[in-house]
Formats: sequence, C-alpha cells, structure tokens
Amino acid sequence: MILIHRRLYELTQETRGQVLLRTGIGLAVSATHVGQALLTAQVLGGLFTGAEGSTFVPLLVGVAVLIAVRAVLLWLSEVSAIRIASVIKQTLRRRLYAHLLILGPGYVSRERTGTVQTTLVDNVEALEIYLGKYIPQVLVALIAPALLLIFLFSIHPLIGVITVLSFLIVIFGPKFWEDQLAERGLKHWNAWRNFKSQLLDSMQGMTTLKAFNVSERQGRNLQQEADRLCKAVTAENTTSLISTGILGFGWTAGVALSVGVGALLFASGQLSITALIIVLLLSRECFRPLVELSKSWHLGFTGIASANTIFKLLDTKPEILDAAEPVVASPTDTRPAIAFNNVTFAYDQGARPALENLSLTIEPGQTVALVGRSGAGKSTAAALLLRFFDPQHGHIALDGHDIRDYSLATLRRMMAIVAQDTYLFYGTVADNLRIGKPDASMEELEQVARAANIHDFIVSLPEGYDTMVGERGLKLSGGERQRIAIARALLKDAPILILDEATASVDAANEAAIQEALERLTANRTTLVIAHRLSTVVHADHIVVIDDGQVIEQGDHRTLVNRQGAYTRLVLAQHGGKV
Ligand code: ADP
Repeated sequence: MILIHRRLYELTQETRGQVLLRTGIGLAVSATHVGQALLTAQVLGGLFTGAEGSTFVPLLVGVAVLIAVRAVLLWLSEVSAIRIASVIKQTLRRRLYAHLLILGPGYVSRERTGTVQTTLVDNVEALEIYLGKYIPQVLVALIAPALLLIFLFSIHPLIGVITVLSFLIVIFGPKFWEDQLAERGLKHWNAWRNFKSQLLDSMQGMTTLKAFNVSERQGRNLQQEADRLCKAVTAENTTSLISTGILGFGWTAGVALSVGVGALLFASGQLSITALIIVLLLSRECFRPLVELSKSWHLGFTGIASANTIFKLLDTKPEILDAAEPVVASPTDTRPAIAFNNVTFAYDQGARPALENLSLTIEPGQTVALVGRSGAGKSTAAALLLRFFDPQHGHIALDGHDIRDYSLATLRRMMAIVAQDTYLFYGTVADNLRIGKPDASMEELEQVARAANIHDFIVSLPEGYDTMVGERGLKLSGGERQRIAIARALLKDAPILILDEATASVDAANEAAIQEALERLTANRTTLVIAHRLSTVVHADHIVVIDDGQVIEQGDHRTLVNRQGAYTRLVLAQHGGKV
C-alpha cells in the first residue's frame, strides 16, 4: 500500500519544501481529530459521572474551534497541492522538453508520437498527484499513528500492543498481493498508452483513413485497444479489492479488540470511563490516515509507473554529444568545404547500413546534387551533415575539421535547410519567417520575401504579413510553403545550404518562381541538394548518384548523360524517354 519510488529524493528536488509543508498540514489535521476525540471523551465521561452541565461549555466550544481550524487547514492543504502541481508542471516539463531537444530528431523519429506525448502530459500529471497528494498522505499515515500509539500505550500497554499488532496486519497483509497488483498496474498503464497512441494515430491519419475507406478497420483496432484497457483496469481493481478487504478486516478487528479489552479493564476498575471513550475514539483515529491512503493506492501505482517512464526518457543518453573543446569557426563569412569521408551509418545496430563507405566532396560555394531512387540514402546523408545522427564509421569534415569538433550551436548556425515538408508553426507569416532570424526587421522580411518570390503572395493575404498560418491557421500550398522556407533560409544567411527538394510536382508558374528563388539562395553558398526531380539538378556543379547507400556514379550532367549509365536510366525513368 505504501508505494515509494526508489528515486523519490531526486523527484522531489524542486518541491521538497512544499511536500513537507503539506505533510505538516496533514499532521495538523490529524491533531485536530485527536483534540476533538479527547474533548468529546471528556464530555461523554462527564455525562457518565454526572458532572455539572456548565463544565461542558468550554469543552464544546473547544470542539467547535477545532472543527473550524480543521476546515482552514484542509483549505491550506489544497492550496499547497496546487502549488506543488504548478512547480512540477513547470520544472518537470521544462526538464523533459529540454532533454527531448538534446536527444533531438533522431530520438523523436524512433518513438511513437503518442508515447512521447503521454510522457509529457499524462505522466507529468500523474506524478504531480503522486508527489502532491500521495506522498504527503503516506508520511501522515506513518507519523500520526506512531504518535497516537505512544498515547494509547500510556493509557494501557495492552491496548497499545493490540493496536500495534493490527497496524502491522494492515500494513504488511496486502504485501502478498502487491507484486501482482504492481504487475497489473503496469499492464493498465501500458494499455492506456497504447490506446492513446492508437487514438492519436487515427486522428492524425483521419484523411487517409477516410480516403482509403479503412476507418472501420481502424475503428475496430481502436475498439480492441479499448477492450484491452477495460480488461486491464478490471483485473487491477479486482486484485486491489483483496488488499482493501484485508485492510478493512485489520483495522476494524483492531478497534473492536482494543475497545473490548478496554471494557474489560474498565469493568475491573483499571481504566476510567473517560479513558475507555478515548480508546474507542483514538484507536479509530489511529487507522484513519491509513484507510484514506488505501483509497488512493492507485495514485501510488500510477505515480511510480509515471516516474519510471519519465526517468526512462531523462536517462536516455543523447547519441549526439556536443564537442568538449569546440573548434572556433567563423561561420558567416566563409564558404566552407564539405567532405564525407568513408561514411558508414545504420539507423539501428546490426541493421543494413543506410549509407556505406560514402565519400564525396563539395568545394566551397559549389552545389552538389545527390540523386538516386527512393530509399537510396539521400536524406540520411543530409541528416548526418546536420548531426541528427553520427556515423558509425568515417567522418564528415567542414573546412577540414570533423563536424563533431564544432559545437552543435555553431554547426546549426552555419547551416540552413529548405526541407520538403516545411513546417509552419501556428503564428503569423512574419513569425514563421523570423525563425530564420528572430530579430529581423520588417524591411528585412520584405526583402527576403521578394527574393523568394513570395512577397506578392503574402501581401495578397487578408492580413498580409500578420495573417495567421500553420495549424488552425491559413493553409498554404506546397509551393507557397517552400518559398516561405526559402525566404527563411535567405534570412538566416548561413554559409551552408541543405536543400531537400519537393517530390510533388509543382505547377509550372510555381516551379519557375521557386527555381528563380533557389538560384538566388544557392549563389555563393556551399549547397547540398537532395534531388528528387532531375530537371533541377541540370545546373548543379557536380552530381552524385547513390544507390543502397553507395556512390555508383558521379560527374556533371553532360558527362553523366554521355556515360549512359545509372544517371541516364534515372532521367529516362522520370522523363519518359527524353534526356
Ligand atoms: P532517400 O532519401 O534516398 O529516399 P533515406 O535516406 O530516407 O533515402 O533512407 C535510406 C534507408 O534508411 C532506407 O532503407 C530507409 O528505409 C532507412 N531509413 C530512413 N530513415 C530511417 C529511420 N528514421 N529509421 C530507420 N531507418 C530509416
């Protein structure tokens, strides 16, 4: 019943004071119950011994005051719980999010979105209840009875011994079921996480599901996950009822036995009537915190399961480590050379490498295009250059230095990317452009938007640069989004450019506008193009054809076409016979 996470001390780091305060308030609440019991016992004892009516007045006033004090304490206790909650929400989510950023896109792409989201939302919420409510309750359930036991011993040792024994039954009895309960608690949590991930999948893929008319099948899968969740909850609750039964038996038997023995002692003249009534009221009070705790046992399980998930994320070591003694580079005024030297990389240990022994060089200011069929390893090469992953063998050099020797901040400052699926955050067009340079002035924004051939489009929007876009905002077409991305990259003005070309064919007007914008962007920059449409690589300084992660051909467009090899076959496949 008492479920303490082994890393509790670490967990409470920021909230230790508040958790102790809430425990103190809980103990004060217990003290009011005890005070009330003592005063009530005196009143009842007085009635039995025929005391004067007026002697009861101060006692009854005392009871009323204690009840009022308790109400205030309960309110304070709730306030303290809210404080704990807000601290945990802020600090833990910040810690988790910061760690997620360190783990980077490599980690996030491997995990299901739903799982990461559950950790950040539900697990943090459960942990907040665990620390804010459960742990103070555990402390009160251990400290308050201990103090009361001393009092009961002072009334009569036999009564003290009986209470201690029943207390031990209440605490250790359910232990026999605890392993099973823990296992079922974990199953419950896993079932919940799967259900949620499945639900999120269904929401995000709603259009695809409808378009392929498979929403019914997805609905059935969701139903299955819901059934699993329902079974897991039922199994957990069934086991927990056994513990509740033992607890109920333990504490009622303890109270009954203490009072029974007390009555016998009273009959033999060893106990006064007031003392007997105190035994009756206090032995019950002794168990109250434990009984209350038992009602929130599931908070303990959920809290522990959540803490484990949270620690799993926090303990995940980033694969990409920042350079200990970074090379100092001057990123903006140089046009660095890039060299992949015998780079081998597999996404998972033991899996077939996505890149194998890849070597290629991009001279300062040159544009090199990577071409090859889908799955050849083009995007992987870009991900390695961005250091989302590190190669298992070989290295990538920038101006002769291994990219691992630069600080991550420098590296990312040196590179701009125009990706296929440009993400627009919920905010204005201007906000989205400023991702490239947060302090850019309006003039700068307009200048890059003009260069990216998107200014006219932006001013035609209902609120121009202040139009809301992104999720819940105005939806932009692929071509428009790409030109926003080009403007962002122009604004960033980084010396290296990674261009992940759109696969979807854009209409001719858009294509010409994009092409023109790209020419402005790539001028004077060291550029790596991941080319999906071969029509745009014709002007690249150098073309590298890769297949299965290896270079199979390279040269400029003319040379490669004359060679009539893999490149020619790719062109023929895309252009239906025309080179
Ligand atoms: P391209 O960009 O040429 O289409 P990719 O670099 O995306 O090819 O993929 C190269 C290989 O690596 C493919 O076999 C692909 O399935 C695999 N791959 C790509 N991304 C991941 C990932 N995040 N995890 C595991 N395997 C991946």
